[in-house]
Amino acid sequence: MEAKPTAAAVPRVLVAEDEPDIAALIAYQLTREGFRVETARSGSEALAAVGREIPDLVVLDRMLPGLSGDEVLRQLKTEPATANIPVLVLTAKREQEDRIEGLELGADDYLTKPFSPRELVLRAQAILRRVQEAGMTSGGRILRAGPIRLDLASHQTSLDGEELNLTPTEFRLLQALMERRGRTQSRKQLLEKAWDVDAGASDRIQTRTVDMHVRRLRSKLGKAGHWIQTIRGFGYRLKVPEGID
Ligand code: CA
Repeated sequence: MEAKPTAAAVPRVLVAEDEPDIAALIAYQLTREGFRVETARSGSEALAAVGREIPDLVVLDRMLPGLSGDEVLRQLKTEPATANIPVLVLTAKREQEDRIEGLELGADDYLTKPFSPRELVLRAQAILRRVQEAGMTSGGRILRAGPIRLDLASHQTSLDGEELNLTPTEFRLLQALMERRGRTQSRKQLLEKAWDVDAGASDRIQTRTVDMHVRRLRSKLGKAGHWIQTIRGFGYRLKVPEGID
């Protein structure tokens, strides 16, 4: 049986912006371009939204009530589960220093207000493309995590150099976990990536399906199986211990 390539899931964007008109405009434009958009009106709302589901991109206004955008960015970058989420910062300030500060905090890009919605879409697409390409480079199409080696071209997996027999679903599941190493993914996200379905099944079936395959994958991976961590009430992530590449 041939393994199907991983389905390109609809990218999720979290827009953290307290000005309703700007938030609505950004959401409208991104939705029209095929993104799934969630909005947050304050820094704490943004962090809560990320806690529920890791987005593919955060569009983050610097000036947010309560917790500022900079503080949200700092917290995202400090937490291993969220450190790799790309962030596009919106700033009302024009000073060069602020731009540099934002980039130092770990923003992937910034836009100075006022900006055209079209420009924002282009930047968002460019960031996501870069992230995707980065996940596919490094030695062609081979993913590694310690003793685990995944060859995306030949669909072969090995553990400590020994060939590992994975089902196509297990392969895609492991690929999804390895491509977003260290990042927590919900069962729904994993289902979309590994099963090539739009997660229309009931939550109970989704949970059971993903959990069952994770269990099998863990047992096939032996010791490295423990690296697939259950994040309670959320999903899974591949956490490779420190000191192992
Ligand atoms: Ca604002």
